[in-house]
Amino acid sequence: MIRRKTHEVRVGNIGIGGDNPVRVQSMCTTSTMDTEGCVRQILAIAKAGGELVRLTTQGVREAENMKEIRRRVREAGCNVPLVADVHFNPRVAEVAAQYCEKVRINPGNYVDAARQFKHLEYTDEEYQAELQRIEDRLVPFLNICREHKTAVRIGVNHGSLSDRIMSRYGDTPEGIVESCMEFLRICMKHNFLDVVVSIKASNTVVMVESVRLLVKAMEAEGMTFPLHLGVTEAGEGEDGRIKSAVGIGALIVDGIGDTIRVSLSEAPENEIPVAYTLLQAARLRFTKTEYISCPGCGRTLFDLQGTIARVKAATSHLTGLKIAVMGCIVNGPGEMADADYGYVGAARGKVSLYKGKQCIEMNIPEEQAVNRLLEIINRDL
Ligand code: SF4
Repeated sequence: MIRRKTHEVRVGNIGIGGDNPVRVQSMCTTSTMDTEGCVRQILAIAKAGGELVRLTTQGVREAENMKEIRRRVREAGCNVPLVADVHFNPRVAEVAAQYCEKVRINPGNYVDAARQFKHLEYTDEEYQAELQRIEDRLVPFLNICREHKTAVRIGVNHGSLSDRIMSRYGDTPEGIVESCMEFLRICMKHNFLDVVVSIKASNTVVMVESVRLLVKAMEAEGMTFPLHLGVTEAGEGEDGRIKSAVGIGALIVDGIGDTIRVSLSEAPENEIPVAYTLLQAARLRFTKTEYISCPGCGRTLFDLQGTIARVKAATSHLTGLKIAVMGCIVNGPGEMADADYGYVGAARGKVSLYKGKQCIEMNIPEEQAVNRLLEIINRDL
């Protein structure tokens, strides 16, 4: 996989884009006026491995309280960058930019009026005048960010496109992309590059198509802004996880995406292990041992599930290693792909152990096989 070339955006003590690993983030579900609750949740997300935490800032009061939340989080020894999520009110963004490492604004409602599903007619001149109005409102915010070294996320949501964009482009991926590009062009014009971009939708097909289109649009205009990926309103449990894996996964395996959020209707810290599992499945970040195991069939020579459980119990601390458990010698060795080590059924009660594609111990009794595998791995470490 060749990752899309992006420039690095510094967000507090971490970098997004460039050569940095794909960053994992989540968002608090607490009220931003509930300082205690927010601090507790931020620490829980950070403890789970979250590398950025976003909080909603509906008004200036919430944006101001970010200062206290940040102070308390730092006091607790946690340096995770905080992101303020702003809708509708540039003034809130300007306050938050002083206290947070990153501010997310939504082009759909930053300057444009709240969506009323009205069809608006603009002449080209009138449309240009609207863009000028956006620029006049955005530039003071960018200057505050520049002064405080605060990064920005231009985050478009399919569900909150402005009437202005909808009237001109319709409810289309092109409209979603243009909503984003209008803001990015202003950032480029004013040489403000500390911007991460996102396009989210609850419909994974729209999300994937729009992000691909955005990448082309940015390329055409020489932009290398890093991308934040996510599927909104993905739901919870297995459904939410699969939806996110489809949307984020489709892009990430093409090398697109520099930070991800797996949105779940659950405790926010639950999102973090899912994000890391997704990144590991895409071979982008290795945070645990990877297991490759066959589904079993009539040829399987041992209790597959019990064996996988025993192998996992003995090796789950070996972050980054790929260990295969295959039910038979007929297809196992060929199908265990790029496993570092393999545990393969050789005959009833007998197991062969592999290092890469090479068999290094044949027909050892099943009861001894897990321990032997661990000895071999330890010898190599
Ligand atoms: S590796 Fe062997 S036991 Fe496992 S599914 Fe393939 S043929 Fe069946």
